[in-house]
Amino acid sequence: MKTSYKVSVLDSEIAVDWDWLVQRHRKLERIGFEATLKEYHSRDQRRQMTKELRQQIMKRDHYTCQNCGKYMPDGVGLQIDHIIPISKGGKTVASNLQVLCSKCNGRKGNKRTT
Ligand SMILES: [Zn+2]
Repeated sequence: MKTSYKVSVLDSEIAVDWDWLVQRHRKLERIGFEATLKEYHSRDQRRQMTKELRQQIMKRDHYTCQNCGKYMPDGVGLQIDHIIPISKGGKTVASNLQVLCSKCNGRKGNKRTT
């Protein structure tokens, strides 16, 4: 049995501006596709920290403090830390986040500027 597929592409269906798409892609590429542009340039980076993102970082770092190596599988006592502080232009994106236990996070925080 032979089936013939007919694929038809209509040029007129492409309604978005190609240059705009390319520009957008380049900007996203620069930030490693870690956030939408709106999120990345948001003035309130703290608000970008969602429950889902916290979970994602905890899982990625295996519920282990990245400083002292303490393993806390229930996640209680673990905190998500900005490697580059928001006050210094750090963004709330996965590559700038790490898991720290509250002890290490407290020790790190002698620069409480926010
Ligand atoms: Zn620790």
